[in-house]
Amino acid sequence: MSPAHTPTRARRLAALLALAAAAVAVAAPAAPAQDGPAPEATGGLVVPGKPVVSTALCANQRSWTCARGQVLTLRGDDLSAARAVIYLGGADDGDDVRVPLGPRAAQAGELLTIVPRRARSGPLKIVTALGTATETEQDLSVVDDIPGIDDARRLTKLVAGGRRPAVFRYRLEDAPATGAAVEAVRVSDGRVVRRWPLEREGDATGEVRWDGYVGDEPARTGTYVLRLNRGGEAAASAVGDASPQFDLLEALFPIRGRHTIGRTETQRFGGARDHQGHDVFARCGTPLAALSKGVVHFTGAHGRAGNYVVVNQPNGESYAYMHLRDAPLVRKGQRVFAGQRLGYVGDTGRAFGCHLHIELWTAPGWYQGGRPRDPFADLVRWDAWS
Ligand SMILES: [Zn+2]
Repeated sequence: MSPAHTPTRARRLAALLALAAAAVAVAAPAAPAQDGPAPEATGGLVVPGKPVVSTALCANQRSWTCARGQVLTLRGDDLSAARAVIYLGGADDGDDVRVPLGPRAAQAGELLTIVPRRARSGPLKIVTALGTATETEQDLSVVDDIPGIDDARRLTKLVAGGRRPAVFRYRLEDAPATGAAVEAVRVSDGRVVRRWPLEREGDATGEVRWDGYVGDEPARTGTYVLRLNRGGEAAASAVGDASPQFDLLEALFPIRGRHTIGRTETQRFGGARDHQGHDVFARCGTPLAALSKGVVHFTGAHGRAGNYVVVNQPNGESYAYMHLRDAPLVRKGQRVFAGQRLGYVGDTGRAFGCHLHIELWTAPGWYQGGRPRDPFADLVRWDAWS
């Protein structure tokens, strides 16, 4: 790791600390019920009425059915006295999950809570600041696969062009309104980077698989969600119909093991000997992977390059990987995904020490009309995250 990474780490740590502070604030005991019923002028103890829940509505507008992690809206009477919701689950107490409520969780006759990951189907118990409690007559059904919630819940990283795409399943109960679509949204700025318009039919069900590409290019590295936009007036309220967020990486560092990116003039692009690529050092035998998806354009052996392979990218650029220990594991014309094994670091050809010499050629590619370009900045960036 170079010292240049340190500030990023420090920022991350600061963000984590801020998160921790926020979590502590949420978990802190509720303040006195300032927003509860006002004390009567006559004095004496005011006992707020027991909370009564009449409706449980999940963010996808379904009653009494929620996916874990969704926002649950409870409606009823005297909810402002509530200080905790207990998801009772089954008959025994072992699966109870208690969620403390902030003093402002209930407003305008509504109580908002997020269904915890460990919650199970069953009635809800609403507990007040005075310790009184009421249970709902109806069970809340807690499910995993709900329309609009993807089943790639454990996907935390999406490598653009990789083997595993993000999968998002949706269902529209009624004919979708105009503009209904599944959208890939960048969390940092809310920008929709890709849309999949939905057909206008009755019960529309479907699945969207996204490999992180927008046209010929990977989407910019960042945090994304896939969400269902119901179109029409409902669009703004469809907040619950989204996948968990995931980090998208635009490319993978090609050496999948310990390595050192060369920084001397002879190891870098250009220089006195007109070096057409960049050298990255690693032990011979360290696995080598395609940094993005593409089609193998050429494989071969050469007096200087040694064993090498050239992969054309969807955008017309190409990468050449050289000095491989053995003949490449892929063949000409083969489609490869980001992360696919190409071979192993070696020192074949004219190489002093085991290393990968990697070349980036602009569109239309390696000896197809493109020109070599310095890949150093990209390599350093990819190295920081993969
Ligand atoms: Zn080189």
